[in-house]
Amino acid sequence: MKIIDGKAISAKTKEELRLEVAALKEKGVSVGLAVIIVGDDPASRVYVNNKKKACELLGIYSEEYALPADTNMESLLGLIEELNTRKDINGILCQLPLPRHLDEKAVINAISPEKDVDAFHPVNVGKIMIGDFDFLPCTPAGVMRLLDESGVEIEGKNCVVIGRSNIVGKPMSMLLLHRNATVTICHSRTRNLSEVTSKADILVAAVGKANFVTPDMVKEGAVVIDVGINRLPSGKLCGDVDFDNVSEKCSFITPVPGGAGPMTIAMLMANTVTAAKKQNNL
Ligand code: NDP
Repeated sequence: MKIIDGKAISAKTKEELRLEVAALKEKGVSVGLAVIIVGDDPASRVYVNNKKKACELLGIYSEEYALPADTNMESLLGLIEELNTRKDINGILCQLPLPRHLDEKAVINAISPEKDVDAFHPVNVGKIMIGDFDFLPCTPAGVMRLLDESGVEIEGKNCVVIGRSNIVGKPMSMLLLHRNATVTICHSRTRNLSEVTSKADILVAAVGKANFVTPDMVKEGAVVIDVGINRLPSGKLCGDVDFDNVSEKCSFITPVPGGAGPMTIAMLMANTVTAAKKQNNL
């Protein structure tokens, strides 16, 4: 059994990007990301701080807009509109979830698809569907990178994704399909879940329930990718997979923390660099 080191693969990816950002700078192209956060959700705060830190590390210019929780749609959309037209801002990210009174869909739709580095805009979602995409959805793209860096073959493999959210499960399944895997998507109405999952050569868990995947759900020698981030009452972070018991059966497994999580930010940085290149016709 091999533990896939997401921290190390993320660091390697970020180092490659740092060099790319430096090379772009030499050509007179700077890379800029604007991050909007509304309200004071502590988890969102941590994510935004990590994104800022990653930008600093890579030499990407970043701006943060920390808006009060009672911000209205008009001023939020006004800010996005302004950022859409700014030449020095290549990527725009609005940290989700937004406070309830704000219309998340309208906010996503307002971000120019060329600057939508989260790849949540319907134009980018559609492009992912047809396999002709500029921006990869960050978390699923990070999982693909983990598999590739670990030398896991994907073509022809039985892949099972537990979860069908627009952010993780659905785009994850699409990326695996584009790489010629046979993909099954499971969700809360799936019958005989463990029967389905135990046929997986590659099992991706994106459920949001601690220790949901147990050894009886996993085939001997499977590759198990744990996307879940759950906080136990003790405050400890854990994934969707019962790591201690499942890992014994796996050929590869990702830990939580230190697996899929660190890759998401690395892929966000990759999308920001892609956006800058495209906007400068490179
Ligand atoms: P959602 O809550 O949007 O989706 C969860 C999915 O799990 C749904 O499709 C749901 O099915 C399915 N599900 C729930 N219960 C069961 C069950 N008993 N059996 C089978 N399927 C079930 O979550 P997200 O996709 O946004 O996130 C999933 C996890 O990944 C979370 O822990 C989240 O924190 C983490 N995450 C991690 C990221 C990272 O950077 N590593 C980034 C984003 C998320 P149904 O559709 O039928 O309700």
